[in-house]
Amino acid sequence: MSRYWNSRVKNISPYVPGEQPRDRKFIKLNTNENPYPPSPKVIKAIQEAANERLRLYPDPQCTELREAVARRYVVKSEQVFAGNGSDEILAFAFAAFFESSGGSQNEPILFPDITYSFYPVYADLWDIPYRTILVGEDFSINIADYKIPSGGVVFPNPNAPTGIPLPLSDVFSLAEYLEKLDKVLIVDEAYVAYGAESAVPLINKHGNILTVHTLSKSSSLAGLRGGYAIGNSELIEGLCRVRDCFNSYTVDRLALAGAEAAVSDAAYYDEINRRIVATRERVTKILTNDGFIVLPSAANFIFIKAPTKTSAAKSEPCIGGADLMAALRERGILVRHFNKNRIADYLRVSIGTDEEMDAFLKACTAIIGNIGNTK
Ligand code: PMP
Repeated sequence: MSRYWNSRVKNISPYVPGEQPRDRKFIKLNTNENPYPPSPKVIKAIQEAANERLRLYPDPQCTELREAVARRYVVKSEQVFAGNGSDEILAFAFAAFFESSGGSQNEPILFPDITYSFYPVYADLWDIPYRTILVGEDFSINIADYKIPSGGVVFPNPNAPTGIPLPLSDVFSLAEYLEKLDKVLIVDEAYVAYGAESAVPLINKHGNILTVHTLSKSSSLAGLRGGYAIGNSELIEGLCRVRDCFNSYTVDRLALAGAEAAVSDAAYYDEINRRIVATRERVTKILTNDGFIVLPSAANFIFIKAPTKTSAAKSEPCIGGADLMAALRERGILVRHFNKNRIADYLRVSIGTDEEMDAFLKACTAIIGNIGNTK
């Protein structure tokens, strides 16, 4: 705490990203990075862009990247916004579409209680009132719960960290409801490539849907920082207004080149992401057979709970989430734990290569075996 901080900085709890180790070599299953390399075309494009033109500012409109996104999704480039990772785009979207406490109306925005933990941080940063809606016992989102007066809604599809997808019909019906209130529905599609249905085809029907996409996961480019949003051109213009009050050049020349090549090479990425889905299904089956609870995931991660103790009450696992994470870490494997009500017994495990996941499964067997008293 510093006396030089303003009250907003004093009071905010910033987002804490997953560990990025710099020393020991770990198997990293903690930040949902893609275990496969980016397309060779991406590396080539970045290398070619590393030239004397770096002395010039990049295109603030990200024109070519937006055109590549428009081609891929069959939308207009005015319906595309490009940014420095989807976190930045989400921050802009909160600022552009959700009302601050001092604004003309004060209905809170809504998001699930178990979801991406950056949403409350953005809301606090911009002083936007929010209310969390409980996900069901099975961790699924019940869309009827969101059909109440609000300042707008945001959730990921599939949800994080559960991985559970929401049917497009639910997204559609909520958008329809919110449109009557002139409110925006932000659908964070960070993990949509792994099995959920994208809401992009709905944007021409419902001008209040903004889909937000990242290159960090399905395009293997977490280190590049790139993302884009797709929605009605009025929403895109709103995002541009916020960006242009903040930093005109959020995407640098190298990132623009790499992102455009990635968006244009769907064939390469479809193949590596298909492998990730196959690995996810294989690992899910093995863990389930071993007594783990594995939520049904449409993402590049699984959300798991250790097998139940034979002696204990029905749902008590033989090892809690924090202890299992620590034991895996000792064996050189990083996973993510959220010390939060309802999910403290769970771990989020990113899907790595088959070899990495075999090492993870072996470590789990060793740890659970050591504990001994499972069913
Ligand atoms: N949305 C969700 C649901 C995420 O899990 C993440 C990754 N932490 C992001 C958005 C942000 O991704 P990036 O900023 O790397 O594009």
